[in-house]
Amino acid sequence: MVKEFNLGDIVEMRKQHPCGSKDWEVIRLGADIKVKCCGCGRIVMLPRIKFEKDVKRIVRSNAVGEEA
Ligand SMILES: [Zn+2]
Repeated sequence: MVKEFNLGDIVEMRKQHPCGSKDWEVIRLGADIKVKCCGCGRIVMLPRIKFEKDVKRIVRSNAVGEEA
């Protein structure tokens, strides 16, 4: 389970969005996490616990000093 996220990370979810994309950009971190679909731009908010379970992997980390 992925637990470390940064704003701007691109994550792949286990389930794909109806638009066909699996990649989401993290746009808000907190108790709830807001992500934007990379395919259609839709924004959804998920409880952190659910988000952590749904993320399959980080496609591109935005962490400072970390190579993608
Ligand atoms: Zn979408």
